[in-house]
Amino acid sequence: MPIPGATTIPEVKRTSYAGEILQIFIPILLVLIFILGVFFYLEYSVETELLAERENNQVLLGSRSITRILENIAKDVHVLSQSTNLQNLLNGQGPQSKRQLEEEFLNFARNKASFDQIRFLDTTGKEVVRVNYNRGSVAAVSEEKLQNKGTRYYFRDTFKLDPGTLFISPFDLNVEQGRIEQPLKPMIRVGTPVFDTRGEKRGIVLVNYFGNELVAYLKSAMSGSTGGVMLLNSDGYWLSAPSPADEWGFMFKNERRFSTRYPDVWQEMLAQDSSQRTSEAGIFTWRTVYPLSQEATSSTGSVDPDGASGAAVGNQEYFWKVVSHVPQEILDRASLKRLGYGLALLLALSLLALIGSVFMASARLQEKAAILSLRRNEQRLRSITSELAEGLIVLDADGNLVMMNREAEEILGWREKHHKGLPLLDQLLEADTGKSGATPIEDALDLQKVYRVEEGVFRRQDGSSLPVTYTAAPVSIDDTLHGVVVSFQDITDRKRMQDELKRMATHDALTGLCNRRMTEEFLKQSFIQAQRYKKELAICMLDIDLFKQVNDSHGHQIGDQVLREVSHIISNMTRDVDCAGRYGGEEFILVLPETPVEGALALAERIRSQVAHNTVMEDEQGNPLKITISAGVAGIQEKIQGPDQLVSLADSALYHAKESGRNRVEQATHPL
Ligand code: GH3
Ligand code: MG
Ligand code: MG
Repeated sequence: MPIPGATTIPEVKRTSYAGEILQIFIPILLVLIFILGVFFYLEYSVETELLAERENNQVLLGSRSITRILENIAKDVHVLSQSTNLQNLLNGQGPQSKRQLEEEFLNFARNKASFDQIRFLDTTGKEVVRVNYNRGSVAAVSEEKLQNKGTRYYFRDTFKLDPGTLFISPFDLNVEQGRIEQPLKPMIRVGTPVFDTRGEKRGIVLVNYFGNELVAYLKSAMSGSTGGVMLLNSDGYWLSAPSPADEWGFMFKNERRFSTRYPDVWQEMLAQDSSQRTSEAGIFTWRTVYPLSQEATSSTGSVDPDGASGAAVGNQEYFWKVVSHVPQEILDRASLKRLGYGLALLLALSLLALIGSVFMASARLQEKAAILSLRRNEQRLRSITSELAEGLIVLDADGNLVMMNREAEEILGWREKHHKGLPLLDQLLEADTGKSGATPIEDALDLQKVYRVEEGVFRRQDGSSLPVTYTAAPVSIDDTLHGVVVSFQDITDRKRMQDELKRMATHDALTGLCNRRMTEEFLKQSFIQAQRYKKELAICMLDIDLFKQVNDSHGHQIGDQVLREVSHIISNMTRDVDCAGRYGGEEFILVLPETPVEGALALAERIRSQVAHNTVMEDEQGNPLKITISAGVAGIQEKIQGPDQLVSLADSALYHAKESGRNRVEQATHPL
């Protein structure tokens, strides 16, 4: 029986298989896209941050390596300038000391392999000792080939210095005979003045440092950089660049210059010693190196071999910028790669989701088909039950309404569509409690038995009671209780008929008073009660006076009318606990429990008076009809054996009243 499940049958919308799949798949896809998007955005942020951090570190390493190299060169130059051999030479200890100095310079050049030339020049600028590196085969220059460099800026700028201070030339390309030497030979000249033991300035020591070595160290220190390594001079020219064609713009006078290619970045580099900037061209990270230590000076140098240097350069003006440049293309390529991975992952996950959706969709369609078939069954059942002449109510295990057929709705006034799913049991059965305190319907649910109730009471929606006969049958499927089916019929008419029949058996049809049998039964019971509990009991017999004449003069119908009116007066004046019965034709008897004779006499007197003074009764012409009654009253006493004796006593009293002239009440004289 499928009905109890009906409450849980949801509305089902028919959808196509593809539609069903999309309904599941699209939300999953959207969630996937969102999650992957967030994931890749976060990854991108972290990656970018890591890259920035890494480039910062790389540039720091690069700038430190340059500083260290410069410190080493400075140390080397100081060592050379304080050579014992050099002091011996200055003290005039002959050609021996010159050879020893040459030997020292040669050893130094060979071991260091960092210097193209090591020289000692005298006060006029004439080379006294000079060794050349010559690609590894170091050699001293013979006496006749030594030159006078007195006019060169590096001599003049070094010679004028104080003891212990260094001259560091601009970083440029070596020029031989007015031409840039090929292959390019980047060079830094570092010199210091030389003093003899008397403190007199006697010349300078000068080394030509291989700039390529510095660049090589820089590049190796920054080998972990994602970007291209750059070294810029203070005019914004490249001393080293990822593309060699960009280098040495100031030497070739070709205006290839960082400061013109990336003017904004350059401005920021000038303003900030070390920082990072993301521009359209990518990420630039830089750090500034100041080659001139406290004891060093420099000059602008001179491209003209014999020209004086343009100007002296301060510590802060002589700087290089160590730069890492991660080009936008590299960043884009990384993003593109990440995007590729992301899309591939999305595709793979979407495929999985799609497969999952296909399975879920078919499961859902099956479920929907099942629900639809349940629904059809339910509708079929509904159409059958709606034709039933019996009311049918289905409640679930909790007493909530599942369904109700049309007949039930009409009888009870409840509406299925308004009360479906609502607790109905309590409201329906409030008036009808079974033996166990629970209602039979609750018993049917609890004990899982069928209960038939012949005469029960249901409550209508308007609160009125309805007599019904009903059956409550539990509904179980596979041992699981789902609810209860209650079928019922309205038995109002049947009840009314039964009540009428009962009335007819106990009451007089003409007057509505109790009939003789009922009255005698009542008297019998009252007599037993009164005797057992020693209670008072009185009876009163009433008889209409000269009633035969009424009949004779006015006809039977008027007679009947009189009988009804007198009965009306009698029943109005008696209590509910009393029994007023029609004993014979125009003879009545009142059984009055717990009433002393005096009370009965008073009552009889009141009735007598009421009848005598009534103005209601009329004859067939509408004239007032004077009616009187006589009454005999008797009360219970120990000597009275039974109800019959009490009746005959009252009857005697009534006879006495008639004898005494009628329209009066007489009390029975009791037997001695
Ligand atoms: P009394 O004062 O001595 O009682 O005189 P009475 O005429 O009332 O006495 P009686 O017993 O001779 O008359 C009773 C009459 O009541 C006889 C009968 O026709 C009439 N009677 C009895 N039952 C009915 C009835 O159901 N309807 C009508 N209309 N008359 C009835
Ligand atoms: Mg009479
Ligand atoms: Mg009579």
